[in-house]
Amino acid sequence: MTLYCLGSINADHVYAVPHLPAPGETLAATGLTRGLGGKGANQSVAAARAGARVVHIGAVGADGGWAVQRLAGFGVETDHIATCDAPTGHAIINVAPDGENAIVILPGANICQDPDRIAAALAGAGPGDTLLLQNETSHQAEAAALASARGLRVIYSAAPFALDALRAVLPHVSLVALNAVEAAQMRAALGSVGGAELVVTDGARGAVWHHGGQSLSVAAFPVVPVDTTGAGDCFIGSLAAALDRGLSRQDALRYAAAAAALQVTRPGTADAMPSRAQVEALLA
Ligand code: ATP
Repeated sequence: MTLYCLGSINADHVYAVPHLPAPGETLAATGLTRGLGGKGANQSVAAARAGARVVHIGAVGADGGWAVQRLAGFGVETDHIATCDAPTGHAIINVAPDGENAIVILPGANICQDPDRIAAALAGAGPGDTLLLQNETSHQAEAAALASARGLRVIYSAAPFALDALRAVLPHVSLVALNAVEAAQMRAALGSVGGAELVVTDGARGAVWHHGGQSLSVAAFPVVPVDTTGAGDCFIGSLAAALDRGLSRQDALRYAAAAAALQVTRPGTADAMPSRAQVEALLA
């Protein structure tokens, strides 16, 4: 079946800095790495690498052709990525030697989504298909409502955490994915995700899936991480792909945990997503 991902596409600029800059300080970076990022693009790439048919719905600026080509190179279908009159989204990521980071994001074209374009992208979708979304675009609630009305499974990676967005999208969602910090924020604000199922990831402690009063858990695979950026996106994109090909909740959790374990052993985000064959070799 098809996995539609309404999501952000960013140019990531990752600066190695001796420490995070203080207010008013000018700091020389010791290195720069540039690459494809954005939660949406990362999750699309993770799902495509896991073997799903992925249609990305999003927007870039006139300067974003390279990002669309990168997505296509990973096997993501890009016909529903619009070009808007805004700069392509980008992220300035400062990383200190201890791994601590400080990030500035320009949403840019990511918040130029259009409900008519989203509807056109989902025109051929139906039961058995999936819509995956996060909080780095605009019009998530309309997309989720449309997808759920058409009978799609709707998976919502509610990050970065935004209460208004969560409230608006939640009625249309089958599965919400949060990390442990976001789950605590959600519980403090809302108590629960209502009738939706909930997956909570917790870094090296693994993940738990809450559904219908029951919980399933998976331990993280023991690895030596070199860069955990994008681990959550890898987990969610891989989980969505595993569910799309009919795996059970427990098997999908195991697949996603194995994929994310491989991802954290590699530098980068989209570039670090493992293939299905690599994940299955770890699971064998
Ligand atoms: P990020 O913001 O860095 O993308 P996140 O906070 O959204 O990550 P995490 O909960 O840190 O997401 O990680 C997602 C999943 O990745 C975990 O549930 C786990 O399966 C895997 N993972 C993360 N860190 C490690 C690690 N050190 N070793 C093994 N697996 C890990």
